[in-house]
Amino acid sequence: MKVKNLIIGAGISGLTYANYCDNYLIVEKDNTPGGYCRTIVKGEYFWDYAGHFFHFKTDEFKKKFIDSLDVSEYVSKNKKTYIYYKNKLIDYPFQMNIHQLEKEEFIDCLYDLFNKKEQEKYDNFLDMLYGKFGKSIVEKFLKPYNEKLYACDLTKLDVDAMGRFFPYADKEAIINNMKTKINSSYNNTFLYPKKGAQVIIEKLLEGIDKDKLLFNSSVKEIDIKNKRAKLANGEIIDYENLINTIPFNQFLKLLNNEKYTELSNKLTYNKILVFNLGFNKKSSYNTENWIYYPDKNINFYRAGFYDNILDTDKLSMYIEIGYPKDKEITEKEIKKQLDLTLKNLQKVGIIDNTFKLVDYMSIVMDPAYIHIDSRYNKIVKETMNELQKENIYSIGRYGSWTYCSMEDCMVEAKELAEKI
Ligand SMILES: Cc1cc2nc3c(=O)[nH]c(=O)nc-3n(C[C@H](O)[C@H](O)[C@H](O)COP(=O)(O)OP(=O)(O)OC[C@H]3O[C@@H](n4cnc5c(N)ncnc54)[C@H](O)[C@@H]3O)c2cc1C
Repeated sequence: MKVKNLIIGAGISGLTYANYCDNYLIVEKDNTPGGYCRTIVKGEYFWDYAGHFFHFKTDEFKKKFIDSLDVSEYVSKNKKTYIYYKNKLIDYPFQMNIHQLEKEEFIDCLYDLFNKKEQEKYDNFLDMLYGKFGKSIVEKFLKPYNEKLYACDLTKLDVDAMGRFFPYADKEAIINNMKTKINSSYNNTFLYPKKGAQVIIEKLLEGIDKDKLLFNSSVKEIDIKNKRAKLANGEIIDYENLINTIPFNQFLKLLNNEKYTELSNKLTYNKILVFNLGFNKKSSYNTENWIYYPDKNINFYRAGFYDNILDTDKLSMYIEIGYPKDKEITEKEIKKQLDLTLKNLQKVGIIDNTFKLVDYMSIVMDPAYIHIDSRYNKIVKETMNELQKENIYSIGRYGSWTYCSMEDCMVEAKELAEKI
């Protein structure tokens, strides 16, 4: 078979790309589309692969979202997010809300904020945190929380590891926020389909030719020189352009080249165990959207409330637990974490022993957050440029090996399709 544009992966990036070009074939290893933008319906609960909310930064994609759905089919929310710190909730982000801490802790944070040693240049992510926020803010929240999330030594991450997703704040903003709340984060408002994020995948599917989407078709090998992809079933596809959306580290291994395999082995990332949990009744936590947990005695780093976002009447949650890439998440581990999660949900007061778990499921997201590592950033970029010369374009959150949102993936896919 010969195609002009061979797209690997039918997640939000691959499907968006196909919506903006004519001559294509999408090969997807699973038997359903969506990648990580997928919704599972269990009984009366709608669950994503951990909450997948749309925080639009472009009018174009926001308008597309709004135009494609009836107003009754989605919710529009002003985000309500908190940090569970020493048995109480404080507003997120921590650094902007230190005035909500107990007096002694507030003084520590303020004192260190004023005496921090700011530098022109920082060596790594942790170094930058200390330089910009001072010891107390870092050690009370930024360090333990991000260590739970990324499951790595934060000195291994690049200064800019979180890009625009990191809520920077200077002294002035922190002080001003004590009197007047400043809402300047990238995701203060969000839109969300009432039937889950996958609704957007269904909309993207309407724009493509179903005969040009092959499920259960995993790419196993790429012959760069001859522009040829081999599928797991042995089928060969000749292409002019190859659009990759699978994780870059996995893609490099398909190229049968020692240099690329070596780079692939150096790239690191975390994995996340997600629990979606449906209970028989509403919690007293009945307005929060999601809560961050820096305490290392709590197994999860974030817990979200679908029921508070969708205004439904039974507690429906997602829980996220971070792991290093090499840690195997066995059935035994999942069971252990589920028991721990239920205990910890009681400990933090979200449920008590009168709550009944009606339905649940676990999902492993592997990879989940890539480690943007300054040692390899340059090599990754150079490799992507090298591959572009062979008409191979790697896009999407994992294809580009970056930290980005679903909308960013859509913007990137559209721009590339229009460019080629
Ligand atoms: C915990 C978590 C929470 C998130 N929350 C949000 C949020 O609230 N809002 C937001 O905007 N973004 C969120 N994201 C980011 C979002 O999930 C991604 O940006 C987006 O889904 C990436 O889409 P993609 O199409 O690039 O990749 P993917 O969704 O990974 O799609 C890649 C596709 O390739 C397929 N594939 C893999 N290998 C092969 C192969 N060899 N051959 C063929 N096919 C293959 C896969 O099956 C998959 O379908 C979150 C991410 C995580 C980890």
